[in-house]
Amino acid sequence: MASFSPSDGHVYCFVCKLFSKTRSQFTHGGYCDWKNAAARLVEHETSKNHLNATTHFAVRSKEKGCVDQELVQQAESEAIYWQEILKRLISVIVFISERGLAFRGEKQVFGSPRNGNYLGILELIAEYDDFLDKHIKNNGSCGSGNTNYLSSTICEEIVQLIKKKFLMKLSLESSSKNTIPYR
Ligand SMILES: [Zn+2]
Repeated sequence: MASFSPSDGHVYCFVCKLFSKTRSQFTHGGYCDWKNAAARLVEHETSKNHLNATTHFAVRSKEKGCVDQELVQQAESEAIYWQEILKRLISVIVFISERGLAFRGEKQVFGSPRNGNYLGILELIAEYDDFLDKHIKNNGSCGSGNTNYLSSTICEEIVQLIKKKFLMKLSLESSSKNTIPYR
């Protein structure tokens, strides 16, 4: 039951945060060692502390729904956060693609004048957009494996998705032109 915090880029365990009596990285400070994340998450989720917290959570969930509501709200606000980030990334990707410009520069880091069009335009928008600015400042320099949607891998994935959607639209348009209406 790991939960990503967009504000500090760390992972917390929300069940333990709410109900565990012992402090750990998953309740205080947050976990961010991405290389060992999978193993540590499994280890945490089978630990005695986590299982006790889960039992406590299950009991509380049955009482007047107070816990569930908090969690639903948390999940909803996180979903909105990532939608807003994605909207900005897609706008930049479409802008670069339409003009046939190169995405990457020599350096794949924020703050470098040689970081290419993708990161460069995101930085430019961030000068006037506090939301994106905060996201880049909090997550922009985290290594790969971190969920920040700013890496070149994610950029490439979005480009492929847009391409696929565009080609599908084209083939639908041409097939509807070639179809002889059925009488
Ligand atoms: Zn836990």
